[in-house]
Amino acid sequence: MKKKIAIIGSGIGGLTAANLLIKNSDIEIIVYEKEKMLSLDEGYGIQLAPNSISILNKIGFGNINKNDIFNPLKLNFYSNNNKICDLDLGKFNNESIKYTTLQRSTLIEFLKDKLFANNFRFGKEVRKVSKIKDKLLINFSDHTNDLVDFIIVSDGVFSNTKSIIEKKDIKPRYNGSVAIRTVIKFSEEFDYESKNISLIMFPNAHVVIYPINKKNDFNLVCIVREKLSQNYDIHSIIKKKILSKNKNLENLLKADLNLWPVYVTKKPIKSIHDNVFYLGDAFYTFVPALAQGASQSIEAAFELFNLLNENKKNVQNLYFKRRLKRTKQINKRSKFNYFGFHISNPLLEILRNFFLKRLVINKNFIQSYLGKIYK
Ligand SMILES: Cc1cc2nc3c(=O)[nH]c(=O)nc-3n(C[C@H](O)[C@H](O)[C@H](O)COP(=O)(O)OP(=O)(O)OC[C@H]3O[C@@H](n4cnc5c(N)ncnc54)[C@H](O)[C@@H]3O)c2cc1C
Repeated sequence: MKKKIAIIGSGIGGLTAANLLIKNSDIEIIVYEKEKMLSLDEGYGIQLAPNSISILNKIGFGNINKNDIFNPLKLNFYSNNNKICDLDLGKFNNESIKYTTLQRSTLIEFLKDKLFANNFRFGKEVRKVSKIKDKLLINFSDHTNDLVDFIIVSDGVFSNTKSIIEKKDIKPRYNGSVAIRTVIKFSEEFDYESKNISLIMFPNAHVVIYPINKKNDFNLVCIVREKLSQNYDIHSIIKKKILSKNKNLENLLKADLNLWPVYVTKKPIKSIHDNVFYLGDAFYTFVPALAQGASQSIEAAFELFNLLNENKKNVQNLYFKRRLKRTKQINKRSKFNYFGFHISNPLLEILRNFFLKRLVINKNFIQSYLGKIYK
């Protein structure tokens, strides 16, 4: 008898899990998505480190159109206006596994193309989950239902499904910062290296700029510490926290800007049901300072796929234990980076820049700080 798996949420994590699990003919998968369709017009960028590219390659990422992705070789660090040093990202690459930047929608499109229309159900939100012997009965808000063997919950940072299944109100925490994003075209006014990632640090803010394809499109994201508000004035935040320190960015920040408050998970949880798994941001959402959110969703999908594929007993405990260990490792570095990127004390800023210059060329440090993440 085929095992039936419901995947809740068709983001990067859910679709990667679907792509991997669909290869197993003993498993039937259905992806339930709240929206009416996949959002493929979203132009913002993501970075994928070698740890996730090696997994995506197993489902054919190597054949993606090379004009739709970019492989930056360096991460350049700037303090306000001045370049401090660079990190060689190429040292983590090999012939087929390369640090990659691209539009999120390019990745979603790639992941969608490997699935069939009958794997998807759109406009579906979970209302109730009940245990019936070894199975789980899902009731959806449109009064339909499904009886499944496993549920993979990958509905993102706010994970409404998690609260419904665990029968308690589980909310993420406001991180005290906002993300302001835009996509820009390369122009004469571009003062940063167009083939690399630029990370520009300010007191209480950082800006990341990188190419997302070979068509001269660049992602620009500002992470700025800011109190939670109902009414953000994007341009006044940018002026006060960024442009007052760096005029070079003025032209780049004239484009259409969008703002999102940044939320993070308080604590990862194991479900009350043995056959429910939380994946990606629904498991744990990190502070955006190590660019590992999407990569961790992909890694988690691969871990879960292996455990389910091998028909392991005790899958939930094994999955949770491994994910918790990895999450702690990533979280420590994300928080440390976030602190370092946003230093506001002038003396600490000098010290940070002094140590950063040395650390980026220290092989042992880089191997243990990033090599363990990108392995
Ligand atoms: C500013 C910023 C920059 C980032 N940059 C990077 C980066 O450079 N590199 C990187 O690796 N990561 C980055 N991330 C993180 C990354 O985008 C996320 O970690 C990743 O998208 C999480 O994938 P996911 O599949 O868990 O969730 P999502 O991609 O959020 O997908 C969730 C899906 O579930 C659906 N859904 C929601 N609720 C329900 C429901 N109740 N029922 C059914 N479906 C539902 C949604 O519509 C969506 O399709 C960044 C994040 C931020 C905030």
